[in-house]
Amino acid sequence: MKIPNGHEIIQLFEKFSPKELAMEGDKIGLQIGRLNRKVERVMIALDVLENVIDEAIEKDVQLIIAHHPPIFRPLKNILTDTVQGRMMAKLIKSDIAVYAAHTNLDIATGGVNDWLAEALGLEETEVLVPTFAEKYKKLVVFVPRSHAEQIRQVLGEAGAGFIGNYSHCSFSAEGTGRFMPGAETHPFIGQSGKLEAVDEVRVETIVPEPLLKKTLSMMIKAHPYEEVAYDVYPLDNKGETLGLGRIGNIPEMTLKEFAEKVKTDLEVEAVRVVGDLTAKVNKVAVLGGDGNKYFSHAKFKGADVYVTGDFYYHTAHDAMMQGLNIVDPGHNVEKVMKQGLTKTLQKMCHGAGYEVEIFPSEVNTDPFQFV
Ligand SMILES: [Zn+2]
Repeated sequence: MKIPNGHEIIQLFEKFSPKELAMEGDKIGLQIGRLNRKVERVMIALDVLENVIDEAIEKDVQLIIAHHPPIFRPLKNILTDTVQGRMMAKLIKSDIAVYAAHTNLDIATGGVNDWLAEALGLEETEVLVPTFAEKYKKLVVFVPRSHAEQIRQVLGEAGAGFIGNYSHCSFSAEGTGRFMPGAETHPFIGQSGKLEAVDEVRVETIVPEPLLKKTLSMMIKAHPYEEVAYDVYPLDNKGETLGLGRIGNIPEMTLKEFAEKVKTDLEVEAVRVVGDLTAKVNKVAVLGGDGNKYFSHAKFKGADVYVTGDFYYHTAHDAMMQGLNIVDPGHNVEKVMKQGLTKTLQKMCHGAGYEVEIFPSEVNTDPFQFV
C-alpha cells in the first residue's frame, strides 16, 4: 500500500467518470489548489459551501471532490471580505484542492443518475437522454509469429478488444511480411540492405477512442520491431450510448404511493407532485438536478412519472397538459452521490493499492426546509 498523490487519485476517478462525457460548457476538473502532493484524506461533497470547507479543514482533508463546481461563472476578483473570496482564501491557505465532476458524473455509467435509479429500485433501466456514443477505432498490427501472443495479451490489458461483456477480442491471420532494413538500422530480424521475408501475424482488434493513445504506446513497447507496422482505421460502429437520466420499471402503484416512496427512498421531507394522485405508475424516469429541459424525453419514452428537481410552474403546466406526472423531490437528492462516489472510489483506490481515507461530507447543503 502506498499513499497516492492527487494526480493518481484523479486518474483513477477519470477512468470511471471521464471528462469527455461532460456537457459542453460545463465547468469541471481541478478548480482550486494542486494535485502534485500526497493525499491521505479525500472528502466527497455535493456542494462546496463555507461550512463544507470548515468541515474539510477540521478533518484535515487534502482534496475535495464535489459534484457542483464552486466556480461556475468566471471570477472577476477574489475579495476576502466577501463570502466567496473568504472561501477561496480558506481553501488556499489550508492547501485544500477542489476538483469538480458535474455532468460527467451525471452521465457516467454507475454515476449520479444510476445511484438515483438504484435508490428508487428501478429495474431494466436505460438512458433517458442520450448525450454520448462511445467511438471505436480498428487497430491492425503486424507482428512476428513468436510475439503474436504477447501482443494480443498487451492489447487486452490496455483495454482494447472489449465487445459487450467480452474482453481480449481480436482476430489473427498469418502471412509474410517483407522489408529491407536501411543503413543505420538495428533490425530485430535481418540485416541492413538485405530484403527479408518473415512469417508474421496480422492481429486486429477494436479500441475505444479514449484508450487509443495508451494502447498504441503499450503495444509499441511490447513489439520486438524497431519500426512497428500498424494501421488505425476509423469505424462507424456505435459503442455504448451514455447520457443523462434513467428510465426503468417499478412494481405498479398509485402516484400517491410512489410520491411517498420517493420521500423514503431519497430521504426527503416532502415532494411536489403534478398529476392525478390515484393514477397508476409503473414506468419511471429520473434525472438528477434540474430536469425541466428533458420532460418531453420522459414523455416520449413512455414514462408514467418523471422524477426531477427544480421544476418550474410553467413547465409543470406543460407536463400536466401532456399527461405526464411529475414528482419533484428537489435538487438536493443528488446527495446520493456522496455515499455512491465514496464507495466507488474506495473500491478503485483499494484495487490500486492506495492508502487513502475517502469519506462523504456530513454537512446538509439543502438550502430549503419545510415548515
Ligand atoms: Zn445538480
